[in-house]
Amino acid sequence: MRMTKYDYDLFTIGAGSGGVRASRLAASYGARVGVAEEYRVGGTCVIRGCVPKKLMVYASEFGHAFEEAKGYGWTAENVSFDWKTLIANKDEEIDRLNGIYIRNLKNAGADIFESRAVVKDPHTVHLVKENRDVTAERILIATGGAPWVDESVPGHELGVTSNEVFHLEKLPRHVVIAGGGYIAVEFACIFKGLGAEVTLVYRGEDILRYFDRCISVQVHDELKRLGIHVLTQAVFTKIEAAGGDEKRVHLSTGTVLDADLVFWAVGRKPSTQGLGLAEAGVKLGKNGEVIVDEFSKSSVDSIYAIGDVTDRVNLTPVAIREGAAFAETTYNNNPQSMDYAFIPAAVFSQPPVGSVGYSEYDARKKFGAVDIYKTDFRPMKNTLSGSQQRTMMKLIVDAASDRVVGCHIVGEGAPEMIQCLAIAVKAGVTKKQFDETCALHPTAAEELVTMKTKWVPNL
Ligand code: FAD
Repeated sequence: MRMTKYDYDLFTIGAGSGGVRASRLAASYGARVGVAEEYRVGGTCVIRGCVPKKLMVYASEFGHAFEEAKGYGWTAENVSFDWKTLIANKDEEIDRLNGIYIRNLKNAGADIFESRAVVKDPHTVHLVKENRDVTAERILIATGGAPWVDESVPGHELGVTSNEVFHLEKLPRHVVIAGGGYIAVEFACIFKGLGAEVTLVYRGEDILRYFDRCISVQVHDELKRLGIHVLTQAVFTKIEAAGGDEKRVHLSTGTVLDADLVFWAVGRKPSTQGLGLAEAGVKLGKNGEVIVDEFSKSSVDSIYAIGDVTDRVNLTPVAIREGAAFAETTYNNNPQSMDYAFIPAAVFSQPPVGSVGYSEYDARKKFGAVDIYKTDFRPMKNTLSGSQQRTMMKLIVDAASDRVVGCHIVGEGAPEMIQCLAIAVKAGVTKKQFDETCALHPTAAEELVTMKTKWVPNL
């Protein structure tokens, strides 16, 4: 038996995407691992993020599919939707996944503590529920992030966040969403598809501003086409209770909106509040994020951090890779760090977005001369369905090397296309190699290898 002065080799705080991956791998390499989780094992992605959201996206897409099927000869009369069935089935699936995550951790040999944990010193964690301390050679902070709400707005507490939105008692009739990021846009489409009236209120000019501008513009147009009201350059100034479920939302523009659901989707903050990190000597950034080096080590030698709590790239596969790199480096003598270049991203709007690499703006700054190829068309499926939904594809090519450095798609299947394209783009594919690739007909994706003419924007 190994002799050590600590209870554990590794103690992980937070059993989300990153924490579970790091803990399982470390345990499989022989480390004695403890994991504390204050809510549910699986974390944001599984319990109240990617997974339940995608299930709700699927549910809402049927809202349009019944209508579009008519052009193909189907009759779908008297279709109806039952919110309670969706939520119950979704919860059953989340429970199943939660069980798998717990089993996987236990099977790897990790001890799970259902408790909030805080850092007491560089080698001690306090388990709040059990009111006791455990010691560890290393502590891994994997506490993720939490929705941010503008608490300076009177009545802000009348709104929900993504933490509550998955468990609403009933389908709202009129939803007002604050935010212009991917969560705001996705839920606008979800509620619209399920039959609610939706208004999106965004303080900036362009929604999805972290993406290529063509994506922002296209998605904005598609939201309007779906009948979602998009109000830009506006913020909530006050929310009032208006009897029953009703609320009245006052905007900075003077507009007043009535809603039975007000949803804050204005960003997330790293979960480091009250965690004892600063007291233990861990440097935090201005947003509360743990500052780490390329091996995810904090300013304290025995404390590491991965995933959203470090506010690097806040996506599940990134948290998982950071967790794996930490475990490989520390417990398998196989030093690794995460490579942040060409991480694909999606927005599950309707139609969805897939994007990898540089936006046109960033590519011009980085490479100077770039060639742009762009197409915008009505996909074949929409001819008989009557849907006016369009597909946009844009390739960004470094003119000097001919390398494709960005690829951005809005249209059905975009996230699936981008996951495959990301392999080629990361591997350094050139535009010539795109051109040499034979098309697959009839698909929307074939346009990616048939774009021949450089695009010049109408300025
Ligand atoms: P988390 O998964 O957030 O896990 C942190 C865990 O730590 C939580 O379970 C929390 O309860 C626990 N915890 C916190 N503090 C303590 C404490 N003191 N003691 C004990 N436990 C604690 N990403 C994608 O890649 N694709 C998507 O489509 C996508 N959709 C999303 C949709 C929504 C609505 C949201 C909110 C997020 C979405 N994300 C998506 C982001 C993704 O969920 C996160 O990037 C990912 O979960 C980060 O993993 P993590 O391990 O860093 O933290």
